[in-house]
Amino acid sequence: MDSLPFMDLRAQYLKLEPAITRALLDAVASARFILGPEVGELEAALAGYVGTRECVCCANGTDALTLGLLAWDVGPGEAVFCPAFTFFSTAEAVALRGATPVFVDIDPVTYNIDPVSLGERIREVKAAGKLRPRAIIPVDLFGLPYDYGAVAALAEEHGLVILEDAAQGFGGLYGGRRAGSLGHAGITSFFPAKPLGCYGDGGAVFTDNDELADLIRSARAHGAGGHRYEHVRLGLNSRLDTIQAAILLVKLKAFPGELETRQIVAGRYDRALSGRVPSVPSVPGGRLSSWAQYTVRVPAASREAIARSMAAQGVPTAIYYPKCLHLQPAFAGLGGCPGDLPEAERASGEVLSLPMHPYLTEADQARVVSALLGALDGAGGDRG
Ligand SMILES: *Cc1c(COP(=O)(O)O)cnc(C)c1O
Repeated sequence: MDSLPFMDLRAQYLKLEPAITRALLDAVASARFILGPEVGELEAALAGYVGTRECVCCANGTDALTLGLLAWDVGPGEAVFCPAFTFFSTAEAVALRGATPVFVDIDPVTYNIDPVSLGERIREVKAAGKLRPRAIIPVDLFGLPYDYGAVAALAEEHGLVILEDAAQGFGGLYGGRRAGSLGHAGITSFFPAKPLGCYGDGGAVFTDNDELADLIRSARAHGAGGHRYEHVRLGLNSRLDTIQAAILLVKLKAFPGELETRQIVAGRYDRALSGRVPSVPSVPGGRLSSWAQYTVRVPAASREAIARSMAAQGVPTAIYYPKCLHLQPAFAGLGGCPGDLPEAERASGEVLSLPMHPYLTEADQARVVSALLGALDGAGGDRG
């Protein structure tokens, strides 16, 4: 039996093929390969979709985080609060700026930063008096927008800026507002596997603050000043290729339909799996997930066996993420220990992400469900 794809990027390409080919050939023929007119067109379209005044595209989502922190001049001696259960680059960008990531536990239901743990960590850092609390990077993990109301209240109380990491959340909603607009600035990634992906690397920063957007535009092009070879600050070389912008313009048109289909696919998983696996994803009222991932929990002790049994039936799974950030070797110097952030650690042992994309057929989805339920039954037998 053929193995299912975890994410079927080829099915999407085949559907959009004529428009993609035309856009690519036009972009190549214009020979304006870097920051060509398609990039400005895309920035306007993205800002319109997300609902911010400004959008600045760049080379990838990690750079987008760096550009936001750079524009705020976040650096040494400052604390930036991040969830411990996320992709590495959320905190990597902080540490590369010389600031200190302070890891926060997650809400076990939403997998997002836990406002209670966040409040505690902010007060601890203030009491210790070594670092100046500066920013929060909440993450829309697996596509679900974070608890904006609670986190924004803490940011306001403590005078912190919010940089929303919507690399996975693009398209999601919180109280009618799109992911990417839920903070003083927000970022997304166009890595191919994200909800809105390009055919390589790409990213964007969103904000309503014109001054911040100007700083980010300068910073993405070596701190460019008023003319080309004047540099008024240090920056990055982090522009979006014209070709990627041309592809994204086509894909953004198809995105609302895909987002709707993702809801249908997630709903089918919910109905088939609720009550039959230890935990299915839960979307709080007033929010919409972009379903970057559909992630269930299984018993930690049998997760490996379950994944292996599913793979043997041609059903791929993925573990996002097997190791919390406070336990990563690269952050050993920050002194994180097992037991510090129990919900993040428990999640890292139990999560299992299933194939999830808008081109997943009902028949293939049924195959995923039966492979998972069969594997869980087998694992249950092991437990006696
Ligand atoms: C993918 C991802 C990033 C980084 O995006 P890149 O474009 O790969 O640099 C940052 N944060 C989260 C949560 C991500 O999933």
